[in-house]
Amino acid sequence: MTVGEYFKCPLCGKTFCIKMQMDPTYTLYDWPIHVSCSNCGNEMDLVFNSNGLQPSDLKIDDAEQCITFGYSAVLPMTSALYYRDLSRAERMVSFSPFINYSFFYGKLDASGMLGYWVNALMKSLIPYRHYLKELYPLISHQPCNVKAFSAKLAALSEAPKYKVLRNENECLDAFIDLFFATYKNLSIALYEKSPYAKLYQQLQDFVLRADENQLALARDVVNKVMSLDDWLWDEALETAAEVVNEIQVLFPSMSFVAMGTFDIPSGKELYTMTVGFKKLDEWYASLFEALVHIMPLIVGLNNAMKNGDANVFVVDGNQLSKTMIDFSKLDTANRIGAISQDAVLKETFVPLLNTHIRNAIQHSGDNFKIESQIVEYHYDHTDRSKHDDFRLIDVGFMVFMQLLHLLEAIFLVTSMEKKLRNV
Ligand SMILES: [Zn+2]
Repeated sequence: MTVGEYFKCPLCGKTFCIKMQMDPTYTLYDWPIHVSCSNCGNEMDLVFNSNGLQPSDLKIDDAEQCITFGYSAVLPMTSALYYRDLSRAERMVSFSPFINYSFFYGKLDASGMLGYWVNALMKSLIPYRHYLKELYPLISHQPCNVKAFSAKLAALSEAPKYKVLRNENECLDAFIDLFFATYKNLSIALYEKSPYAKLYQQLQDFVLRADENQLALARDVVNKVMSLDDWLWDEALETAAEVVNEIQVLFPSMSFVAMGTFDIPSGKELYTMTVGFKKLDEWYASLFEALVHIMPLIVGLNNAMKNGDANVFVVDGNQLSKTMIDFSKLDTANRIGAISQDAVLKETFVPLLNTHIRNAIQHSGDNFKIESQIVEYHYDHTDRSKHDDFRLIDVGFMVFMQLLHLLEAIFLVTSMEKKLRNV
């Protein structure tokens, strides 16, 4: 079933219609809607909930002819329902977002894995997605007030009775457990079986089975070139908590995983109406930085696992003359070049660490084309004619994959520290 909602741009008065794919999840959370006004460039964030479209003062009576968007909180849109100038009669006969998406993939049952995943997210993630952001100020306060953290955790989970945690370590473990529960909701079987999860699975296995002295040596090599503590507390946990807090805007982008598609870019002409390019670019940049900064640990653990020593780099069976100190001195582009020499590191990280996108965002060279939903990344600020183009939904997918890898890096750091706590 679909419902039509009409609204106007508050700045220029242009009228729009949004044809919404209804399902009962709007009673569970506010559906995020992002519309870019083609008439004036205004970027509008609206929501749909049990009170209808908000803010309600943008609502208008229906219009005979207007720019029409389809909307689903979880499905990508096809071109048939993205930015179409339609009459009332044409809107009436246009197919729903669900039917269009089903046609796009050449079969009517587009629910399958995606439907199963969405149900799980509604039950196990949507109600708790704000926990991490709300607990972060308490857990990162120095010293952590164990009583206050325990009380906040109990208040969030609406637990009438609760046990006060005993010490800071127990608070941290509880906090990381919440991140892990989030991760398990996001990393469905199709991802866990894919090559993109393999590196983390191997490194985590190495951390758990390695001899404590061997692990402590690897940690020391890494801590000489960066502070794992600073990375965790000043960058990683806060960035991950911010994105998880609004994870719902990534649902249409995440659907690629449920279709078993991991290509970047996907090469599919699909659209998202849940998020705008500014938010995605901001997240892309901060997740990009957090991943580049933790590379010494990823590379160090990979070296320790494969070559027996975090400081030993081997390419094609030959030991290189460089050490972790040399690697840490490389700038971002050269770090990415260096990890490209390892097939697994390359496959896992390189498609998500696009320095052209990063440079364009840094220099405000990201340029959004409303009618095609393409983001142009002008990466060379001395030559504006050069740009790499990505569909908005593909940027959302990259952000989602970056988030998974950031969570994985957080678990590597915290499980290593936990194992070495008493050493
Ligand atoms: Zn406008």
